[in-house]
Amino acid sequence: MTAAGHVATRTLMEHLHAENWFQLHFGLIFLITGVLLLVVYALSDANNTIPGLGLFAVFFMSALLGWVAFALQQGSNVPMMVDVPSVASVMTSYIFFLAAGQRAKIYQGRYLLGAFCLIACLSVFFVVPQQMFVIQALAATVFYASAGVVSALYSWQTRNLGDALLAIAGLIMLIGVPFALFEWLQQGDLKSAQQLTFSIYSAAYVLVAVGFLAGVVIEYQQKLTQMATEDPLTQLLNRRGLEHAVQVTIAHASRQQSHTAAVLIDIDHFEGVNSNFGHDAGDQVILQVGEVIQHKCRTSDVLARTGGGEFLLVLPETDLDGARILAERIREDVSAIPMVANQQRIPITVSLGVAGAVGEIKLDTLSGEAGRAMTLAKMGGRNRVASVENKPVYLSSREQRG
Ligand code: GH3
Ligand code: MG
Repeated sequence: MTAAGHVATRTLMEHLHAENWFQLHFGLIFLITGVLLLVVYALSDANNTIPGLGLFAVFFMSALLGWVAFALQQGSNVPMMVDVPSVASVMTSYIFFLAAGQRAKIYQGRYLLGAFCLIACLSVFFVVPQQMFVIQALAATVFYASAGVVSALYSWQTRNLGDALLAIAGLIMLIGVPFALFEWLQQGDLKSAQQLTFSIYSAAYVLVAVGFLAGVVIEYQQKLTQMATEDPLTQLLNRRGLEHAVQVTIAHASRQQSHTAAVLIDIDHFEGVNSNFGHDAGDQVILQVGEVIQHKCRTSDVLARTGGGEFLLVLPETDLDGARILAERIREDVSAIPMVANQQRIPITVSLGVAGAVGEIKLDTLSGEAGRAMTLAKMGGRNRVASVENKPVYLSSREQRG
């Protein structure tokens, strides 16, 4: 930087006196809160079901009012009759705790902390300002720290970094505010303790704002990924999710030259189920058949719903014989276990096509072969298992239990 540049920078910085910083601070806080209120409005307008949205909207409104009251108090020479900013800060912090609880669906402690909030707010009428500062600082810390615990749990469950930021906001308050109060006890300097507390609040508040925004964005991204890879009816993978999920299996099979098998399962005469019992009953049947198949699988097997009444099962480390045995068990179970929908028993059978490969596999090829086997099973009269190796092979009989 040139000498002239240095001078220009210094001159500019000299203009940023304490009161300018103060305005800058409130400008930023109001901007952040305004943007968040807009985001919350847009999300609620789009009829979205982001957990905690309702109470977070209340939190940002209440925080905005609190900051306005605080800015007015700082900017005015006339002392307020009642310490409104302190009361607003206590209430806003409690609402943050409620919002974090609503988001995480954890409701413990809301009445106990609610009573504590009420006592802290009412104490403004009975205590001197210095005592009110301590009460307000401690109450806000308790609420932020409790919200932090709830958010930490939620972020762990949902793997959402945004909620982890809310937890960090709670941690900042938990460490920072007692430190500021301790410094006051040690040094006796109330003003610097108040300044430090104010900075800690601001940092925690901005972290909550950013954390909430990040949480919402991450949640949307998670939902989109889920929608792209999951079947909404059964919550099993869809075809795309299956392709993703078997990548590791395919790489492993290729490296180890191991067997991989695929079983295609299709409900017989499913269109008849829909027309005789209704589409809802058809959906119930799909769910129940999915459960029966899942019940028979190992955790390493990958199951997807790939069509109306059609499922594709990929079996790592399984040869054709093993896959045929499993397919036969699934066929037997589906025909033996009664499917019930709308209090009616619906007799269901499935046809299964089995295919296998060794070493490097292509999912499309393997499922195509399983499809060929399925056609054989359907042509053979349904309720049976068929498989293909190099040439089509007819496999199981049409015997049924019971
Ligand atoms: P097949 O024995 O030859 O398999 O005959 P099918 O009647 O079962 O025919 P197909 O396997 O082609 O099944 C297609 C039917 O699946 C058509 C449609 O009515 C039904 N279907 C597709 N998606 C859904 C769904 O999400 N819910 C319900 N209830 N039915 C569906
Ligand atoms: Mg069918």
